[in-house]
Amino acid sequence: MKTKQFVLAALSLGLFISCAPGVNPSLSPNNQNRLQAQNNLSSQNALRPAQRKVANRVEQLVDVKRMEGYLAALTGKVAFIPNTVIPERGTVKGRALTRQFISGTLENLGYKVELHEYRKNGINVFTRLMADEPTDEYVLVGAHMDSVSNAGGDDNGSGSTAVLEIASIMPQLQGRKVNIIFAWFDEEELGLVGSTYLAKEFKKQGMKISSVHSIDMLGWDGDGDGAIELARPDGILWDYYKMVNQTHGLKLPLTRTNTGQSDHVAFHNQGFHSLCLSEEYTANDTTPHYHRRTDTFETINLPFLANGTRLVSAVVSDLAQKVPAPVNIQIVPHDRFPARERFFHQSYEEAAAHLDAPAGQH
Ligand SMILES: [Zn+2]
Repeated sequence: MKTKQFVLAALSLGLFISCAPGVNPSLSPNNQNRLQAQNNLSSQNALRPAQRKVANRVEQLVDVKRMEGYLAALTGKVAFIPNTVIPERGTVKGRALTRQFISGTLENLGYKVELHEYRKNGINVFTRLMADEPTDEYVLVGAHMDSVSNAGGDDNGSGSTAVLEIASIMPQLQGRKVNIIFAWFDEEELGLVGSTYLAKEFKKQGMKISSVHSIDMLGWDGDGDGAIELARPDGILWDYYKMVNQTHGLKLPLTRTNTGQSDHVAFHNQGFHSLCLSEEYTANDTTPHYHRRTDTFETINLPFLANGTRLVSAVVSDLAQKVPAPVNIQIVPHDRFPARERFFHQSYEEAAAHLDAPAGQH
């Protein structure tokens, strides 16, 4: 932490002049009007609970155009500051640029950025959105920001974009009773390194984090069924996601898996309830560009990614408002569900050496 973080924070402040074209972190007037309209609607219908709930549907503020801008910057499709693109997110320089973009975007949204430097060149980024009333409870929404030294459109530009979008809209949610941490983990591809250090740090600090929602690869839907996998949802999370999916009218096909090997496991291992959201990685409808040079901006199914982002936004907003979990939950062991294994790279250099290997050899 300490000195280097401040230098980095200062750097990102100084260098982040403006967003690239299309990268507009502020809410569009349309969306603000819509929220206003919802608030009016709910106050006019104070005796109708079904209507009143609409004001809490913060997921309706998810803005696909803004997400496209975030993804374009993260994948090097556009410059995020004049003459500066993020060419890849594996090298020290590429990951520093990525942090600079994420930090600058958060600062433009009014957040105070925290850099968690856990080892040389290993730095997580996170920020906090405090509740409207004081509480020590947190919910964490995160994604790994590094890639295997490629553009990393799906892995994990998609998740990083989703978390940025949720951070963009969640301040609009009123009546938050829980604090929210938005986090971008470093060095996931080398074995969940950043998230493991962060989870240990939060545990050491005695942080009360009631659930961790990690998003990893949520931008591919080859068979067009819209299905989203929830990997190892601890505690109430599987039932809670199913409930919110219905009550908020999203009605997305959700399937449960026992797949580990992503950042949710790092938090689970420290005793925090967690899960990972992804495309059908386990059910074999995952990007054919996985860990290849071709995992670019163009391959991402933005409407699908936006749907997943809406789901997490809705769940986090209900959790933040202490909407109770369904009654009669039965906890079912994770190992009743299918899993898919993966291996981790020893280094970003080693990962880069495999970028041009045929699909399926990763
Ligand atoms: Zn990933």
